[in-house]
Amino acid sequence: MKVFNTLSRKKEEFVPLQEGKVSMYVCGPTVYNLIHIGNARPMIVFDTARRYMEHKGYEVNYVSNFTDVDDKIIKKANEEGVEPSVISERYIVECKKDMEALNVKPATTHPKATNEIDGMIEMIQTLIDKGYAYVAQDGTVYYKTRSFKGYGKLSHKNLDDLRSGERSLLVSGEEQKQDALDFVLWKPKKEGEPYWESPWCEGRPGWHIECSVMSKKYLGEEIDIHAGGEDLIFPHHENEIAQSEAANGKEFAKYWLHNGFLNIDNKKMSKSAGNFFTVRDISEKYDLQVLRFFMLSAHYRSPLNFSADLMEAAKNGLERIVTGVENLNFLLEHAEKDNMTEEEQKLTQTAKSYVGKFDEAMDDDFNTADAISAIFELVKFVNTHVSGESSAAFVQAMKDEIVMLSDICGLIVDRKKEILDTEVEGLIQERQEARKAKNFARADEIRDMLAAQGIILEDTREGVKWKRA
Ligand code: AMP
Ligand code: ZN
Repeated sequence: MKVFNTLSRKKEEFVPLQEGKVSMYVCGPTVYNLIHIGNARPMIVFDTARRYMEHKGYEVNYVSNFTDVDDKIIKKANEEGVEPSVISERYIVECKKDMEALNVKPATTHPKATNEIDGMIEMIQTLIDKGYAYVAQDGTVYYKTRSFKGYGKLSHKNLDDLRSGERSLLVSGEEQKQDALDFVLWKPKKEGEPYWESPWCEGRPGWHIECSVMSKKYLGEEIDIHAGGEDLIFPHHENEIAQSEAANGKEFAKYWLHNGFLNIDNKKMSKSAGNFFTVRDISEKYDLQVLRFFMLSAHYRSPLNFSADLMEAAKNGLERIVTGVENLNFLLEHAEKDNMTEEEQKLTQTAKSYVGKFDEAMDDDFNTADAISAIFELVKFVNTHVSGESSAAFVQAMKDEIVMLSDICGLIVDRKKEILDTEVEGLIQERQEARKAKNFARADEIRDMLAAQGIILEDTREGVKWKRA
């Protein structure tokens, strides 16, 4: 398997630190609002990478944080007159709901920054002790960027280029830093802000230190993959490397993976310009499986344009696979033969070539666009070779292949679900009411609907009884 490593700007063979295991850290959202569709891109694409690696037999330890202390969270808390934790907890709950609807697997661990302050203080102290950081007069702790030899290796910037942009790196309130390139590890509290005790001042951590600390705590000092959106390459990930490698004396992450940006109608997504959608907005119009399919229809590193037309195309594309599986479900129920014929056995072997194509695409830096094309080809192949004459074993084998590949992409394509007892009872109740209201059409419709699910109704003196066929 090859992955494109932002560090080397090359596709490299993926060799994990420990055979059979993958440690992966994906920078998560700042929780001050419902997540937007841009935030959903790294969630979906790296979840798919994880699923594929698990499919290949790797045990993946996947960590993704919630940034729950930040200026935007504090601002919102002050506007609503509540504690910042009320805001962050609310949006963590909402984010998890969106992730579930997008079929993004929960991470092995979802740490929150505010639970990891002790670890941050410890790492900052190590950096001070090793001469990589200093405390300014007001108690702010800064990282001494020039002291870290490898600074710029991820973003491929050199310190001289950065010097010319120094003016823009000066931030108000950070006048006491020795060099414009230095960045904050710890800052003093301000009125109305949450704060923690520390050896330097009552205050709160800078943003970059949280990921260095959480990655170390949950995955160790050296990890296989660190990922996030391309906007994080500089300065966030560059600063994480500077912190972790200086503190631990080891290479932080072997492979750095970055997703391209999601734009809307070819423009940068922006609230003020009115082209901005939360995942929740999209869920009002589409099943979120369509959004997932849309995200995977492009390579994760390419920029991706979101538009109504492209979402319609995604909807149709997904529907093609779902309909294919529905047909197979129908044939399975009606198949007359159990065992495969010789011809069907041969076809089963041919169908494996599409699985091979899928794997080849995914092995090439998680090329989900080509992987999905392989699923389409498989569906087409299956549609031409199955019929009412096919054996149940053959139809099942074809369905298993389509469902397995879709499942690696996190796409739910088998919509046949068991109707629950409570749903049956609800429908029977509704049918009784329809009959009372002399709405026989609706009553019959419900009976047919239940019959289609294999539920048989019996009108008795004691009322309606039901059983599964
Ligand atoms: P944030 O909450 O801004 O820290 O972002 C959380 C994750 O979403 C990071 O990995 C960002 O790089 C990613 N992200 C934010 N906006 C976009 C976008 N428009 N397209 C793709 N990824 C994005
Ligand atoms: Zn991060």
